[in-house]
Amino acid sequence: MQLTRTMPTKADVPEIRTIAETYSGDIAIISVTATSGGVLVRYDRRLYSNNPAPALDAVGYTTTSIREGLLLVTGAVDQLALLDAQIAALTERRAALAAATWRCTACATYTPTAREICDTCGYTREGHDTVGSAA
Ligand SMILES: [Zn+2]
Repeated sequence: MQLTRTMPTKADVPEIRTIAETYSGDIAIISVTATSGGVLVRYDRRLYSNNPAPALDAVGYTTTSIREGLLLVTGAVDQLALLDAQIAALTERRAALAAATWRCTACATYTPTAREICDTCGYTREGHDTVGSAA
């Protein structure tokens, strides 16, 4: 099984055209052109279902919508590398959020560390109800 696809060239144009036409219908695909930055697929944009991106994505290409009716088909993105990058970014965001806030035990809202009482429900950081006890 091929896990990665290199940048498509002129040699890949017939296959890309076949995939696009199979999915969208022959008349929906206007042109398939190789460029130095990938293959451009122009399709009839009058119908949303004419966009062949789902079929090209499914066989391992990466598609970018340039505008309605024009798609750039490039090589495959390394899914593991992409996920690793997303995990790293999320881990960083999580650490920043955890460092700057505390999570209310009553309503699960995150409150800035500088505040001792939850803005949403009035519970303290330790979980005491300041609204109920004040009455
Ligand atoms: Zn709360």
